[in-house]
Amino acid sequence: MKSLWDDEEVKQFDDELGLRVYSSRLLGRDTSLVLHGGGNTSVKIDEQNILGEVETILYVKGSGWDLETIDRPGFAPVRMAHLLRLAELEQLSDLQMVNELKTHMTLASAPTPSVEAILHAILPYKYVDHTHADAVVTVTNTPNGLQHIKDIYGDSVVVVPYCMPGFDLARLCAKEFSAQRHDKTMGMVLMNHGIFTFADTARESYEQMIKLVNMAEQYLNKHKAWTLLHSTSELENDKKLYKELAQLRASVSAAADKPMLVKTNSALKYMDFVQRDDIADLCQQGPATPDHVIRTKRIPMLGRDVEEFVAGYKRYFEKYAQNARQEVSMLDPAPRVILDHNFGLATVGRTAKETMINEDIYDHTIDIILRASKLASYQALPGQDIFDVEYWELEQAKLRKGGSAPMFTGEVAMVTGAASGIGKACVESLLARGAAVVGLDIDPVVENIIDSPAYLGLICDVSITQHIIQALERGVRQFGGLDMLILNAGIFPASRPISELPMETWREVMQTNMDACLLFLREAHPLLKLAPNGGRVVLMGSKNVTAPGPGAAAYSVSKAGITQLARVAALEWGEDNIRVNTLHPDAVFDTAIWTKEVLKSRAESYGMTVEEYKRKNILKTELTSHDVAELVAEVCGPLFAKTTGAQVPIDGGNDRVI
Ligand code: ZN
Repeated sequence: MKSLWDDEEVKQFDDELGLRVYSSRLLGRDTSLVLHGGGNTSVKIDEQNILGEVETILYVKGSGWDLETIDRPGFAPVRMAHLLRLAELEQLSDLQMVNELKTHMTLASAPTPSVEAILHAILPYKYVDHTHADAVVTVTNTPNGLQHIKDIYGDSVVVVPYCMPGFDLARLCAKEFSAQRHDKTMGMVLMNHGIFTFADTARESYEQMIKLVNMAEQYLNKHKAWTLLHSTSELENDKKLYKELAQLRASVSAAADKPMLVKTNSALKYMDFVQRDDIADLCQQGPATPDHVIRTKRIPMLGRDVEEFVAGYKRYFEKYAQNARQEVSMLDPAPRVILDHNFGLATVGRTAKETMINEDIYDHTIDIILRASKLASYQALPGQDIFDVEYWELEQAKLRKGGSAPMFTGEVAMVTGAASGIGKACVESLLARGAAVVGLDIDPVVENIIDSPAYLGLICDVSITQHIIQALERGVRQFGGLDMLILNAGIFPASRPISELPMETWREVMQTNMDACLLFLREAHPLLKLAPNGGRVVLMGSKNVTAPGPGAAAYSVSKAGITQLARVAALEWGEDNIRVNTLHPDAVFDTAIWTKEVLKSRAESYGMTVEEYKRKNILKTELTSHDVAELVAEVCGPLFAKTTGAQVPIDGGNDRVI
């Protein structure tokens, strides 16, 4: 581990809080120090208040902020004098403590201060840095952890036995600090939790952290417990696994009682880990540091028996809830990390971001477990300690507050023809409602139309069955299954009367606009059947189905064909709880085919201006791709929960259709 301090970079930050921002970000950049919201930092600054008095203010990381991206508003300013008085109390519940922290800030709009604020306050240094460094956690998660820490640091750090974060930990640290501290104290190690460093400058405190973590890494290295080797030979990838994965996601969602996403990763590191003979022993010990439990639960599910995992979770809850600090209600018992011989590591979450965070956490957990095993053996904290963090008063309070998740949270949609126009707008409308979305298009730009963990763009020629199967496979590996299928891809050939229509054009239109829909429906059916809230399919028809125009025979027939296909699918799939509906849009001009020139010449042929032409419907309104996409999303949602086999026009009103 190296110091990332950069004399050039730091020039942008010239005041005390600015330097706090800078060195916090340096800590955040190294995922082996802190992960996703873990760790916290502070600085004590003298400030003049509105009455002209000088007060010392603790600027401490606010909850919800990540060290890697933190900025000035991410630090909550709390009055030091009050924090030091609180530290002298005999006891303080976590809810009381949070109330005291929030009511003694100097800025009403600041975030809630870290629960470790009092701990930061009692350390008599300007800058305080705290991480959950992998190397330190590795060494302390062994049967002789305390001895290893003594071997590494001698008496140059204060050592604090494990205690749950919050007021009690602050009290314990204050006690140990005053008992063990001397002139050469460099930091403070919290067993099974992490490490603190402190100094009068931001740089010194940061570099002390790097130095102490380095000492732990070197110790592991000296004991041949640092370097981890993974096999390098490619494994045969089972392409047909996606139906089994979708089944697994269905079982996990049923256990959670809400739709969940499941991300699969078959990297060699994970395949190696799950195929170890001692995997059952290694992975069932508990998390590397207690605060991971809130995201990953105490242990991963090994294999695919969700019922057995749920039964185990209920036993764990019943056993430890008896000794809980207050009344607790059981969280959903579904696993968040799954280890399996066939697919490696799978992570579960309500959002794509959560699945990625859980994957990162478990990736580091594997390193910690393997290194601790090489040093001695991996030993996590007892179940009760983990339970107490999982069922922490503050977390339970957050749960009680609830808050409604977007409509499609935990669900997966696939959209064809997603690179532009209506397809792209559908991707946006579905993402906005919380879905994870797979966008398909023959145009490679589809890969980059959206930058979000909830979006996967894939190049796909919908006329090739193998491409469709591969797209479904990749979508399921990324998100776990398929709930909504939006069949939008289509081509609109140049106007031609039937007497001059080449067979080639006819066949090409039928293949892309109609055959592809059959292939998608056929291949996606087993996945849609497993959708926790029921499968939904929306096909993009056309006004031409009910009101055809001359010169568009192939297009009109293909759209009439898929309308009929959708009606039959609605009949056949009702018993599978899959709804199939068709939209008939018309005159959506913000798509690629309607260039300015085309619009102008069409308007002229009607003797209209472009503006008049765009609104030549009953309501005299203009239609956009976004309008159609919003209807697509709503047709997939609860408003249309009892509608299937329907054809809904979205055309501003057309006298021939009406
Ligand atoms: Zn911590």
